[in-house]
Amino acid sequence: MARFTQADLIELNKAFEDRSPAELLRWTKVVFGERVAALTAMQMAGSVVCHMVSVLKLNMKVVFVDTGVNFQETLDTRDRLAHEYGLDIITLQPKQSMEEQTKELGVLYLTPEGQRQCCDLRKTEPLLATRGQFDCLIGSLRRAEGGARGGCPILSVDPAMNCIRVNPLANFTNDEMDAYIAEHQVIVNPLHQQGFTTIGCNRCTTPVLPNEPKRAGRWRHLGPWSVYCGINPTDVGGTSLAIDIPQELIDRLLGRTTDFSI
Ligand code: SF4
Repeated sequence: MARFTQADLIELNKAFEDRSPAELLRWTKVVFGERVAALTAMQMAGSVVCHMVSVLKLNMKVVFVDTGVNFQETLDTRDRLAHEYGLDIITLQPKQSMEEQTKELGVLYLTPEGQRQCCDLRKTEPLLATRGQFDCLIGSLRRAEGGARGGCPILSVDPAMNCIRVNPLANFTNDEMDAYIAEHQVIVNPLHQQGFTTIGCNRCTTPVLPNEPKRAGRWRHLGPWSVYCGINPTDVGGTSLAIDIPQELIDRLLGRTTDFSI
């Protein structure tokens, strides 16, 4: 294994700024083969990634974390994407049901500290249980979302998962996404039509008013200090560390060719 840091991705990130989402997705398949998966929460941008994975015939697994308190519409969207796009969607779950967790720890999501613990238990830990299965996770973060995502890199290292994160839609504008969805009639979570600009657990997500920020409906009861769950490390500034991956993978990632016969 060799050490690989966020700094090692600087040049590649620059070079990838002009690449289309489809080009970036194809690149992940070429570099990571079977050890890449798309991670989605069944929101609009995740549906776009799922559609691209399907039409590009990337034969790539999709990972979804079912916290046990998702909206039924979110679960239905997962099922439609699986059946209609022919996707292999892996559903991850927390160790405890929400009822079991509440009996043991109380209603966590009512305080900022409890929310962090609850998101760790119900979102982050199920994903961490897959550590070692994937060298690359594809997300659907976009800079057009603003906030902590306003400068999200296309490529980043994820020390907790010891893998590379790729956001092929990082440069996708709102207009481009709307146009893609309309042109391809992409299956999207119906909650988006009901005032939900972003969608998480049913305990912590509400619709937003037209004049509110897009993420105002997430953890509304906690105020503006708690607006990301932490499952995407770039949301919480966790990309300064390093990961350990095989040298041969680093060479493929950085486009180096090593010919030991000469
Ligand atoms: S969004 Fe709310 S209910 Fe869902 S895991 Fe986080 S704190 Fe718990």
